[in-house]
Amino acid sequence: MDTNPRVPAVQEAAREGPRSAPGKERPAPSASGTPFSGIRVGSFAGFQITLDYSWFVIFFLIFGTFAGAILPAHAPGLEYPTYLILGFAGTVLFFVSLLGHELAHAFVARSKGIEVEGITLFIFGGMARTRSEAVTPGDEFQIAGVGPLASFAFAAIFYLAALVGTGQGLHGGMVVLAEYLAFLNFLLAIFNLLPGFPLDGGRLLRAAIWRITGSLRHATRVATTAGRGLGFGIIGLGIFAILAGGAFVGGLWFIFVGWFLSHAAGASYQQLLLRDVLGHLSARDAMTPDPETVGPDLPVERLVREFFLARPYNSFPVTQDGVVVGLVTLSQVKETPWEEWEGRVVADIMTSLSEVVVVEPETPMLEVLERLGEGDQRRILVAQEWELVGILSTTDVTRWLDRATLMEHSPPMPNDRSRESPDTTLSGRLS
Ligand SMILES: [Zn+2]
Repeated sequence: MDTNPRVPAVQEAAREGPRSAPGKERPAPSASGTPFSGIRVGSFAGFQITLDYSWFVIFFLIFGTFAGAILPAHAPGLEYPTYLILGFAGTVLFFVSLLGHELAHAFVARSKGIEVEGITLFIFGGMARTRSEAVTPGDEFQIAGVGPLASFAFAAIFYLAALVGTGQGLHGGMVVLAEYLAFLNFLLAIFNLLPGFPLDGGRLLRAAIWRITGSLRHATRVATTAGRGLGFGIIGLGIFAILAGGAFVGGLWFIFVGWFLSHAAGASYQQLLLRDVLGHLSARDAMTPDPETVGPDLPVERLVREFFLARPYNSFPVTQDGVVVGLVTLSQVKETPWEEWEGRVVADIMTSLSEVVVVEPETPMLEVLERLGEGDQRRILVAQEWELVGILSTTDVTRWLDRATLMEHSPPMPNDRSRESPDTTLSGRLS
């Protein structure tokens, strides 16, 4: 067993991120971990709608297919600009119905007390970004199931519109559009019902196993394994389409979608393990207790000689009469010209308490993990009524994450407490 949990300074320093300039505003602690960056187009019923940059690729692919292939083939003899206008309208309507699918998830999730940050459309579909997961299999089942239901409803609406439009002698191009939108929404619903996590069907499967076995972890393992299998199957289909059918673009698309699905399934399971392991821990469990401290009046020159050069640590909490007042790091010393080391004291260069993240010993590790990204120091001080009791670094957290991978092969715990654990990990659902 490792009795000295602190690691040598070199290793720690390697993990230390760039320190931002003093006085710089702390970044907002939201949306960390989301792989998306894009354009916020507004909000609907309090849900922020974002278009990921990758979404423009799929928008123009579908626009091109509508305007350049489907409409000219099924409604021949129209003017070229008419194809463009109809194609554009059809593409917008398709994404409106995709948004409808995601909004259905979002509304039901919100009604179950789950905070929904917003909805992102990206190259493979859309996702409702939730701040936590369902707490019961019943909630999970309803949240997941309503998406495909919405897509079936859109399919029915567009199909009816095509029927009525034909009877009323509507423009032939519009009827073709309505028929295709009905078809696409039907496909969307069917595809999403495939039983592989994180597709809606995989979530339904997970909810069912969760209900039967009572173990969320076991259910997630089965559903994400199915998701990876499904992803590999789709990749196989893509390869087959290219080699046997000569459908290069379609095959390539299948390969991308399959790869994305299997990757997302694997990542979802890792996330759950993280929650499972960290969910039971508080800051006290992972912190290094009673760290060495320095006083605010200590000259920087002595700080370097007696502490940074003599100890394997690269940060020290600063305390005065047992009360924590700040944190001083090796990089702060490096930023100070050495000629000034004699004349300056720790208080001159340290990060003051208002800029350091301080948590209580009983703060859940999941919250600690989120707040680690908040400060600039990648350190969190653990204090009880301002009296320092420990320090937590990214290294301490990494050690617990290593445990998570160790536990991957252990059987599901008889008393699966993960449902009760607070959840701060972003999770999404694919459309
Ligand atoms: Zn969905």
